[in-house]
Amino acid sequence: MTSWMAATVATIVAISVPANFYNAKHQYYQGLLDAEVELVSQSIEVLAARYPLTWKDKSDELNQIIKDLPRTGTAGRRELAVLSGEKWIAGTLMSPERSVANWAIARTSYPVYLDGHEFGRVEAQVSLGSVAAHTLLVAMFAAVFGIASFVVLRRFPLRALQEALEEVNYLASHDQLTDLPNRTLFHDRLQQALADGERRGTRVAILCLDLDHFKDVNDSLGHSMGDELLQQVTTRLRNLLRKSDTLARLGGDEFAIVQTSADSLEDAATLAQRIIEAVAHPFSLNGHDVSISSSVGITVFPDDHCSADHLLRHADLALYRAKSEGRGTFCFFEEEMNIQLQRRKALERDLRTAISEEQFELFYQPQIGLNDDQVAGVEALIRWHHPERGIISPDMFIPLVEETGLIIPITEWALRQACSQAKDWADLRVAVNLSPAAFKHPDLIGLVSGILEDTQLDPARLEIEITETSLMQDTQKTLATLRGLKDLGIQVAMDDFGTGYSSLSYLQRFPFDKIKIDRSFIANISDQKEKGAIIEAIIKMSQSLGMVTNAEGVETDDQASFLIGQGCDQVQGFYYAHPMRAAEISAISKMSGHEMSTVRHEAKTRHAS
Ligand code: C2E
Ligand code: CA
Ligand code: CA
Repeated sequence: MTSWMAATVATIVAISVPANFYNAKHQYYQGLLDAEVELVSQSIEVLAARYPLTWKDKSDELNQIIKDLPRTGTAGRRELAVLSGEKWIAGTLMSPERSVANWAIARTSYPVYLDGHEFGRVEAQVSLGSVAAHTLLVAMFAAVFGIASFVVLRRFPLRALQEALEEVNYLASHDQLTDLPNRTLFHDRLQQALADGERRGTRVAILCLDLDHFKDVNDSLGHSMGDELLQQVTTRLRNLLRKSDTLARLGGDEFAIVQTSADSLEDAATLAQRIIEAVAHPFSLNGHDVSISSSVGITVFPDDHCSADHLLRHADLALYRAKSEGRGTFCFFEEEMNIQLQRRKALERDLRTAISEEQFELFYQPQIGLNDDQVAGVEALIRWHHPERGIISPDMFIPLVEETGLIIPITEWALRQACSQAKDWADLRVAVNLSPAAFKHPDLIGLVSGILEDTQLDPARLEIEITETSLMQDTQKTLATLRGLKDLGIQVAMDDFGTGYSSLSYLQRFPFDKIKIDRSFIANISDQKEKGAIIEAIIKMSQSLGMVTNAEGVETDDQASFLIGQGCDQVQGFYYAHPMRAAEISAISKMSGHEMSTVRHEAKTRHAS
């Protein structure tokens, strides 16, 4: 590489210097010659004007004009000739073949006019022999200079350049923290390993591994401790691998391994198990003992015969499964995972047309006030009528909607729909769920107020439910958004309370109107004392902060009685009513909670018998 570059530089020097020298000289003499010929032509025109009929015969005068021309150029022999038609009438012009060097000649030609008609030409040429000789000399020096620059460049600066290039190459293919190959290099090595495996007929295992709850270490001990942990993990992993295997860091706490020494699936499983055990030993970070587990996803080529990209994705899917199966384990890729992925992709595609094709519908679940046993409001719960798969519940598609950014149009649709439908139900309040991604909408307040204006719903009859996850980032902005919503005159409820990160401080800083106790606390309250105690505490705290409590997922008489006993304000659950179509709400809105539960109980008994 360096020789090649040095040779290029040397050649450019050796050729361009003499070429430029000759070119400059040639242009100079060409300019002189042009000027001289123009002068001669003008003198002949004067002569011709004086003797219009005989000037062609006055060769003495013509030759004198040529002779009198001052010799300005010194390049070499100069020849001038006057022509009338094809006939020479004065001067000489040797043919180019007879001149010093065929190529080293400057030539020119200039017309002679009489009464506006061209009746002759002056032609001239000058040999640039001396210029050519000088150029040759210059070329010799340039060649020597070129050779010298080749030697110098090759020995010194280009070597430094090459080292710099190698350094850049290394940095571009390695992770700086752990010094391991990065994703790009890993990909190259994987492709290489697959090609080798294919040729030799051997197996190649791809393992993806990820530290469980690594984020907690970063959050609690700081990023430098997190980095230290990653370095120590790298050392342990390196010790488990053979030379022919490749370990890479793909990003964050994600590592990947190409195991070329995997003769069987068991080999890959053994390595995965050893990795999990090695990582499970506590790490010492600046005096802190930190324990962390890891999960591993594996796929094996050629059992799983596809491209490097797909194999990596399959190992990643297997890792995902290992994590969802409780972490600290490994899992092999199975085709089923791929099918699930495909299904998800298809769902994502279908979602894009769902709004325009009006496939969404809001169901409403009554919320019963326990003080008067009347329906106090309804919660709007979205349903998707999929053309092939029937009704799809929001848990199946809301996360996908959040990832794809479709959450904004869907939220807008749900808000508009709920607000306009609520106008039919005299005084029921309608609660709409707002997912964290929608809460981050830059102009959420404008969106909500616009919809209220369009639908003319009394803002007091709209309630927005947000979860604790929405509150986790950027406190100032979150509080401002919450205040903006409240200033519109709408109600704000905290949904699924108790499932997320503790946001007690939020409850103090922001006056939620309602707290919805998550249904996981309501389930089994009668058998689990501590659950009852938690509910009791939440209700007491909400009362002291002046917030309404709503208990979700009430399914039994016992649960309802317990909540009534605790002074809970509202309940919602299958015990009273399932989410239902808008048309049904008008019918039940005048029923008491007791009537609703009786109707449901009777229906259930009828169904059972
Ligand atoms: P969520 O906000 O906690 O809604 C309550 C969920 O509990 C509803 O599920 C409801 O059908 C269910 N449920 C009600 N009573 C009972 C009961 O007694 N027992 C049991 N086991 N479940 C009960 P659904 O409709 O499937 O909605 C699931 C989640 O999807 C909702 O949880 C909410 O987070 C989200 N979601 C629903 N609609 C929307 C929406 O329009 N926008 C957004 N962003 N999220 C929505
Ligand atoms: Ca909700
Ligand atoms: Ca909830």
